[in-house]
Amino acid sequence: MTNWHALSQQFPADRFSLTEADRQLHAQDQSSHAAHLPDAVVWPVTTAEVSAILRWASDQRVPVVGWGAGSSLEGNPIPVQGGLVVDFGRMNGMTAVYDQDFQVVVQPGILYKDMNKSLAQYGLFFAPDPGANASIGGMIANNAAGSRTVKYGATRDNVLALEVVLASGEIIRTGSRSVKQSAGYDLTHLFTGSEGTLGLITEATLKLAPLPQHFSAVVAAFPSTKHAAEAVFGIMGSGLGPAALELLDETSIGVLCSDGDFDFAIAPNLFMEFHGASEASLGEELLLVEEICRDCGAIRYQTGLGVESRNKLWEARHRLFEVFIRRFPGHAWLLTDVAVPISQYPVLVAYTSEQIERLGLACGIIGHAGDGNMHTAAFFPREDTTGWQRGQELNDLVVAKAIALGGTCTGEHGVGIGKQKYMVQEHGEAAVQLMRQIKATFDPLNILNPGKVV
Ligand SMILES: Cc1cc2nc3c(=O)[nH]c(=O)nc-3n(C[C@H](O)[C@H](O)[C@H](O)COP(=O)(O)OP(=O)(O)OC[C@H]3O[C@@H](n4cnc5c(N)ncnc54)[C@H](O)[C@@H]3O)c2cc1C
Repeated sequence: MTNWHALSQQFPADRFSLTEADRQLHAQDQSSHAAHLPDAVVWPVTTAEVSAILRWASDQRVPVVGWGAGSSLEGNPIPVQGGLVVDFGRMNGMTAVYDQDFQVVVQPGILYKDMNKSLAQYGLFFAPDPGANASIGGMIANNAAGSRTVKYGATRDNVLALEVVLASGEIIRTGSRSVKQSAGYDLTHLFTGSEGTLGLITEATLKLAPLPQHFSAVVAAFPSTKHAAEAVFGIMGSGLGPAALELLDETSIGVLCSDGDFDFAIAPNLFMEFHGASEASLGEELLLVEEICRDCGAIRYQTGLGVESRNKLWEARHRLFEVFIRRFPGHAWLLTDVAVPISQYPVLVAYTSEQIERLGLACGIIGHAGDGNMHTAAFFPREDTTGWQRGQELNDLVVAKAIALGGTCTGEHGVGIGKQKYMVQEHGEAAVQLMRQIKATFDPLNILNPGKVV
């Protein structure tokens, strides 16, 4: 019998809960994977408290699942074996800003949009930007990425050091504030992307970037997704460095336009942003972008969008998933998240379009195209079991194609529940076995987010 009383005694009443309502709020992320209730929820405010929680959980053999904003898309924080959810929402401070080094030290529960608002006064920002207002702990645990990854990298490329509490309750520090590090095994980046299965992150030192001074947004429409994907390869292959390069197919643009006052051509579109050291260098870059888009058959090309239009463009892009859900009320959805080398992007997109048509799915293709990342969003009535099967078939086919093209089954959403079945396909049995051994070394009692990743 779990001794919840011993744990609850260590927290004030408003920071430990066994109530149905709090458990429901921590049973499901933003995916369609089945919800599962935890037995209890706790809100620590210090690393010492997290350490005490894990010592208690090891002693009691209770599963422990970290929780940031619950915005995952693969079931990553769903407590599939019940146990305790550790919600980091109240460990949300900014501990130090080293503006001259372009670095910040934060607690894991801080939301990245809030953090960036505070950092604007230093002229700095944290570049990885998943559409949802995710927590930094959740972004590190999932190795989240976003539309700016094409220029600034994913979360992994922007984490320098961590403080982590291990399953035993021991507190360790990894990495340093030096941007060059070569001292032994890279534990910082082992924890990054480990989805809370190896330890709980209690502090992170992040790399920041200066806010761009000169920028321009561009929107280009194409006669087909194939043409748009070829333009993506043309832009990236010519050595241009977009700060964002997003593909939205005709279905996605149609859904977006049905929800707001947008003037997009109802056709596959590329949303882009370019940053320059000066207006002149930016202008030169934009001329080349236009030439490539026109060569790839662009039917409409808009550039030089001002700050307001640029903000509206990115807000629309970030709201797309939410708009899809509104467009298909009461439907279930299945998202794909694969990535391939950029030269293979047109092949992947053409193949995916064919399969969507063959399977007769209501499905959009959306992607952080500049880094070879592609999503499909398939929607079907919950009672339509063939819809779910067709969605799964699409997922299996697109993952197999991405892996065959030299890519991966997940570019950014992580393994969670949905991608576990592809791990051996992608990495091979021996490599997955090594991952299982790593997991067992860090977490011999298998209490940290059990049932995930491997
Ligand atoms: C509309 C929408 C758009 C999205 N767009 C993108 C996108 O463009 N790119 C992208 O990458 N993702 C995207 N996502 C998915 C999601 O936002 C990211 O995966 C994000 O990193 C999740 O962060 P979170 O704070 O919500 O974490 P949660 O979902 O709460 O948790 C994520 C994982 O981290 C673990 N965890 C949480 N905190 C800690 C901690 N302190 N220590 C250890 N483990 C911890 C959890 O156990 C879980 O395994 C999107 C989601 C939505 C809803």
